[in-house]
Formats: sequence, C-alpha cells, structure tokens
Amino acid sequence: MFSQFLVLEHNRIERLAAISEPLRQPEEIFRTAEDGRGLEAEDVASLFAAARDRNRRIEIQAAANRVRARWAAKTVEFIIPVYLTSFCQNECLYCGYRQSNPIAERVRLGPEDFDKQLDLILSWGHRQIELVLSDDPEFGPETVARYVAATRSKLDAWGGGVVALCSPVYQQQDYVLLREAGLDWVVEWQETYDRPHFDRWHFLGSAKRNYESRVDLWERVIAAGIHEIGLGVLLGLYDFRHDVLAVIEHANYLRRTYGIEPHALGIPRLKPARGVLASQKPNRFTVSDDDFRLVVSVYHMAFPTSRLFFNTRESYDLNISLVTAGDLFTVDCETLPGAYLRRHLPGQFSTHDYPPRREVKAKLEQRGLAAQYLVEEMPCEAAPGAPATEAAIDEKPWMEQHAQIRARLQDWEMALAGLKPRPSGTRAKQEELGEKAGLERLSGDGAQTLERQAADVSLREIMEYFKTLLATHCRQEESELFPAFHPDPEVNSKLAALRADHERFGIDLDKFERQMVSYGLSKDPTVLLTLGARIIREMRGHLEAEERLLPLARLRAIRQSYIH
Ligand code: SF4
Repeated sequence: MFSQFLVLEHNRIERLAAISEPLRQPEEIFRTAEDGRGLEAEDVASLFAAARDRNRRIEIQAAANRVRARWAAKTVEFIIPVYLTSFCQNECLYCGYRQSNPIAERVRLGPEDFDKQLDLILSWGHRQIELVLSDDPEFGPETVARYVAATRSKLDAWGGGVVALCSPVYQQQDYVLLREAGLDWVVEWQETYDRPHFDRWHFLGSAKRNYESRVDLWERVIAAGIHEIGLGVLLGLYDFRHDVLAVIEHANYLRRTYGIEPHALGIPRLKPARGVLASQKPNRFTVSDDDFRLVVSVYHMAFPTSRLFFNTRESYDLNISLVTAGDLFTVDCETLPGAYLRRHLPGQFSTHDYPPRREVKAKLEQRGLAAQYLVEEMPCEAAPGAPATEAAIDEKPWMEQHAQIRARLQDWEMALAGLKPRPSGTRAKQEELGEKAGLERLSGDGAQTLERQAADVSLREIMEYFKTLLATHCRQEESELFPAFHPDPEVNSKLAALRADHERFGIDLDKFERQMVSYGLSKDPTVLLTLGARIIREMRGHLEAEERLLPLARLRAIRQSYIH
C-alpha cells in the first residue's frame, strides 16, 4: 500500500523539498523529459532548486511546452462540474461547505432538477461531466450510482461522452457499483500529503481525517476495474514543493506497481471561501502565481501525456497562458447544486468569470488545439428565464424580520454600554440589565462586577442570536429572495454587495467572539467596543440597503423543486 511506502519515504521527500542546489543540471533533466520518459522526484526537486533563479523558470516553462507539444494529444478536453449536494459532515478548515459554516447554502439536487440541469448543460455542448459531492450521509454510493447511471444514459442519448466523479472516498465494492453504472474516471485530491498538516486542516471528528484510507484509495479504485484516475493536492495547505514531490512519488508508484499513468493531475490552489477565515488570508504556504506556473511546468514534464486539470479557481488569463496540449479545461463552473439553473450563486469557493465557451474554443484552435467534449450548442427549454412568471413581492415578512434584528442590535448596543465606565446616575439602568440577564441585584462596589457579568452574559446570548441569524435569515434571503430579482446589472451588483456583507458579518462575529475572550483576560473593553460599534453600524446600513432594494423587485416564480 502506498501509505506504507510513504512512511519509509517521508524523510527523503522532506530532504528533497529543501535542497537548494540541483542534483542534476536542468539541461539534462529537460533532455530526459523531452524523450517522454517522465521525471523522478529527484529531477523535480532539482528543477525546484534551479527555479530559485528566476531566469531558470522561463527555461523550465519553455521545456515543458516542448515536451507537451511532442508527446500529448493535440486536444484540450472541456469538463464541467455538476454538484449534487452541499451538505457535509466534515470540518475541512479551508472549505465553504464545512459543517459548521453558518452561511453555506445547503442544497441537495433532486432527480428532477438534476435532469433539467443536465439537459441545459448538454445543450451548451458539454460532453464531459464531473459529478461532485460533499460528504453528505444522505448521499451514499448507491444514490451516487443512480446519478452516474442517469448521466451515462443522458450522454448516450446525446451522442456519447465521459462521466467523472469527485466524491468522498469509498470502498472497492462501491467503485465496482459506480463503474457498472457508467463511471469512467475518478478525481480525488489528497489535499496535503504531510500528515501533521493533514490532521490540522481536517478537524478532529471529521470522517475525512482518515489519512490512510484516502492515500490508499487508488488501490481500491484500480482493484474495482477503474484505471483512469485523477490525483493531486490542494496547493497552499503545506509547502508546495513537498506536496508536489509526494504527488510525483505517488503517481510513479502507481506506474511501477500497476502500469497506470495518471489520467489527470489536479492543480487546485487554495482560494477564499465564504465564511471560512482560514481561506481568506495568505498563510506561509500560500502559492504565488510564479510558483503556480512552476508547478504546472514540472507536472507537464513529469507526466507528458497526463491531463492537467485547469479550473476556474484561477483567472482565465492565467489558465489560458498555461494550458497546453492534452490538458483539461473548465469554462463553466457553478459550485452550488442546481446553480446552472439559477446563475451566480455563491458555492464552495470563489471562482472567476470566463469568456463564452465558443471564444475559448476559438482561442485554443488558433494554437492548433482541438476542443474535445464540447460540441455545437442547441436550444434548450431548461434555459434560465424561460418558464418564469411574474408576481409582486410580499415585503411584510422580510420587514418583520428586519424589525426583530434591529431590536437585537439595540440590545447589543446596551450590552456594550455596560462595559464602559459609567457615572453613578446610570447605576439603575445597569442593574436593570443585570436582572434581564438573570443575575442578582448588588449594590456598592459589587455593581461594577455585576455590570460586567451582565454584559458578558448578554453578549454571549446576542452572539448566538446573530450566528443563528446568519444561518437562517441571511441564507433564506440568498436562496429565496435574491435569485428571484430580475437579472439587471445594477440590481446584480447590489445583490453581490449584500452577499459580501453576509460573509463579512460571519467573519466579524468570529472576530468579536475572539475579542470577548481577550476582554475576559485583560478587562480592557476598548477593542470590543470599537469593533462592536462598527459591526452594529454596518448591520444597520445593510438592513437599510436591503429595504431600499425591495420596492424595485418584481419576483419571478421561484423554482420549488430544490430540497433545502
Ligand atoms: S472539502 Fe469536501 S469533505 Fe471537506 S468540508 Fe468541503 S465538501 Fe466537505
């Protein structure tokens, strides 16, 4: 099993990741790669060491392009992800769908909407479908197999195509079932091969924390008769040199053991996800654009015929400058189940907008690369906008909820006021606050303590309220109210700003809670007061902005068949 091999090789990989001088000269390595023999970890480590000189990076990219032009098919394969569920029992700290994220939209795509969406996607010309799902206990392998079979049968009806799957890791018999249902290939990223960092990013209690099961997945997939595999790491969780070298080792191990070349190599890079603090800020493992280009080049050389999986986490300009013969390319990408029917809803991570698929295809053809799995477009009844009917919006329930939120903002303000040093005349008000929080009335010097305790209890309760609010009211707005507005550029940009506010409030509440802990230790309320005042001010501004927008809305009928 590869996990046992990795235990033995871990120190070697760490040493190779750290070398500062190449073990072989880059020119020799280029010759090996241009002969189509692929590269070993020592060669890739040497290229990383050589790339500390910036001029060398240009040579490495040029050599990689020569390798691909010589060995890879003169095609670029289009692939489109289709998410099935966004419910998840795991706590991957980098992911917008982690279980505890209160602002993640949770959707399970029912068979009827799945069919409708697939018809739409096929009408756009796509013929390679990647089914994607989070770790949803209600979406086991048997259910997934039904969606695979439905995709296979639709593709066959439209002239054929390819079905890929990115799912939680399963057992061998599950992959047999999926293969028999019509699955062609499996996509699975190890995230990071470094065990301590793998544990750190995957919170205790998460099923995904089972490192061995994940790293030994390919043995089970291959034993089930699926020989087309896509492996890789999420760049940015650990030192990219170490992780890329581990991918090279893993792929070369599979090549030596089973005679299987990787069908695809993943190059996802950590990007911001809504409500996920760890993904928002650069960390010491953040991969720069320059390093990303280097990773692409070494993969291109190490596996001359494998497909690098270019995805919309990256900008179009960056991807189109790097894609070569034989790669996979994503143009259309929605990461929320059903979002191709209801465009531009926030999903698992942030993505970029791309030019129309025809334009991308033409651009590739200018470079002598034929687009594969993208055929001519056809009209489709499921296109967004077609079946909509008009109805006036009922503002009342939204306004009532806003009134409740305003009342709680006032409570928040009072609780903050309880932390400030006060003149004695306000003592009665403090005691009233204390009673409201269920504390006994005190007098004299005890009043200051009472005031702090009351504010503390009240603030905790208020934090709970606002976190629940994000998970209910804000999500309800995003899933029911916002998608129903007429798609008008001005309204769209206002809705995008309101969504961004929801996300920022989640992060601000986290910050506020952390400041409450600091205040408990220092008893200095300055930061808490300033931060709280800002959040309250911004929430009030947000409510007003939403209310200004409501009268402009004429709701279209909302599609009801999503299961929330
Ligand atoms: S990465 Fe996958 S398993 Fe982890 S939280 Fe996100 S959807 Fe769930």
